[in-house]
Amino acid sequence: MNSRKVIAIDGYASTGKSTLAKMLSRHYHLPFIDSGALYRGVTLFALEKGFLKDNELDQKAFNGALKGLSLRLEPDTGDLYLNGENVSQKIRLPQVSDHVSTIAALSVVREFLLLQQRQMAHENGLVMDGRDIGTVVFPNADHKFFFTARPEVRAQRRYEELKAQGQETTFEEVLNNLIHRDQTDSSREVAPLRKADDAIEIDTSEVTTNQVFAHLIEKIDAK
Ligand code: C5P
Repeated sequence: MNSRKVIAIDGYASTGKSTLAKMLSRHYHLPFIDSGALYRGVTLFALEKGFLKDNELDQKAFNGALKGLSLRLEPDTGDLYLNGENVSQKIRLPQVSDHVSTIAALSVVREFLLLQQRQMAHENGLVMDGRDIGTVVFPNADHKFFFTARPEVRAQRRYEELKAQGQETTFEEVLNNLIHRDQTDSSREVAPLRKADDAIEIDTSEVTTNQVFAHLIEKIDAK
């Protein structure tokens, strides 16, 4: 069943948004877009090209180069291509996580990605997760959810994921990164992280992935 819906999932970092968005995309046969991957891609670009060095951004050079940046999300695998290179692994590196909220706060970046995200919806609908999907990217989405969870629970889940991938990090580092990103994302001027008035809030602290999935489907099918 492809019901041509737009489903928006926003919320704090590591609350399970992408996992649930992927499950919904399979269930409803809709494409899935992880908008955070796009912001991570732009951040990797700024770091690799040397526009962002020692926490200083060469804004003029970066703005100019942005026009020539090509980002492509492979719909089937979810892999991200940056100027033709598959950067799906690199965008998850701690260095990218540490700088992504700074880059995502720039209006030039948000404008650049806004257009691309809207074009991805085509006429087929999609499931997209992020921070401003229900408020800015698709304010008329058919279904909107906003995920929260206690910071310690989120950090523990993320820490275990990173360890399983063989990345060197500590629980404290992960927790600090999540808290810092949430603060920066919530307080920026352009498209801050916030719940849309008509979004359903879901606290994922004490529930399993399957329980959240069942709840989301119930809400979507009932509408
Ligand atoms: O979803 P993920 O945690 O990978 O997102 C990384 C970062 O990208 C967020 O912390 C936020 O700064 C930025 N982001 C955003 N708007 C979105 C999606 C992600 O600002 N729609």
